[in-house]
Amino acid sequence: MKATTKIFGCIADPINHVKAPSLFTSEFVRRNIDAIMIPINTSKENLKDVIAGLRKIRNFCGLTVTIPHKIDIIKYCDKVELEANQTGAVNWVKFNNNMLIGNNFDGLGFIAGLKKSNIVLSNKSICIFGAGGSGMAISFALLKYNIKELKIVNRDKVKAEKLVKRLQNFFPAARIKIEELNDPDISDSDIIINATSIGLKGNEGIPFKLIKTKKNCIIADIIMDPEETLLIKEAKRLKKQVHLGKYMLENQIDLAGKYFQLW
Ligand code: NDP
Repeated sequence: MKATTKIFGCIADPINHVKAPSLFTSEFVRRNIDAIMIPINTSKENLKDVIAGLRKIRNFCGLTVTIPHKIDIIKYCDKVELEANQTGAVNWVKFNNNMLIGNNFDGLGFIAGLKKSNIVLSNKSICIFGAGGSGMAISFALLKYNIKELKIVNRDKVKAEKLVKRLQNFFPAARIKIEELNDPDISDSDIIINATSIGLKGNEGIPFKLIKTKKNCIIADIIMDPEETLLIKEAKRLKKQVHLGKYMLENQIDLAGKYFQLW
């Protein structure tokens, strides 16, 4: 580290689970970039003061933002980019000459991962489980790729309905349907995405019946811990193509590096 080292932060509460500081700092070292990412553990109550303090640090260049700050941080941004505006959540903030610009790479990171795996979206029927922050960001990103249809399944149906309304505001011509949680029709889906917390360490389970999916349906999970969820293991056992959660974060790192003009 030098006197000129650029500082980035990862802001969260709790902080124990975050992987971004170690992943980013390793990437800076690998690419010989004079920068570091530090974990910043702060509560919702103190977010305003922390952001005001960070603004005053001349070599503080940006933040990645996670639970519970993704929505609240918008209040402290001077500007938000399209993806953050659509989703109403920010997970990256660029500090640019005392101007804070919010962005959201959750959806774009997920799509970039699919593209690298040569998974085509155009004209595909896609079903997403989960209408939380990630489910929303991925849904917005999917609709930019000329897909045939988007089905949304969520435990809280009102939340799913709100998401459909929000999506339809930006994409009035898109075909979007809500499926019932207890018996969703997933028989015609080409790609099914798990964007719920089901499968996470401590919340083990499988969000839908793989037996009801068509033979060549691709199964994607966004959970990273464990790297292979029960859903992914079972899909592999049934010889289906799978897509792991780690690709979403890896591709966000790539997008964020470009956004901050680090590479
Ligand atoms: P949110 O809290 O915003 O949303 C959680 C979603 O999971 C909601 O749709 C919720 O449904 C659903 N859910 C949770 N528990 C259950 C359950 N027992 N049964 C049915 N549905 C359930 O979280 P995020 O969207 O931010 O994150 C979701 C997952 O994605 C997390 O596991 C996280 O680890 C992972 N993630 C991965 C990233 C990556 O880069 N790979 C990036 C960000 C997140 P309801 O609305 O009904 O509560």
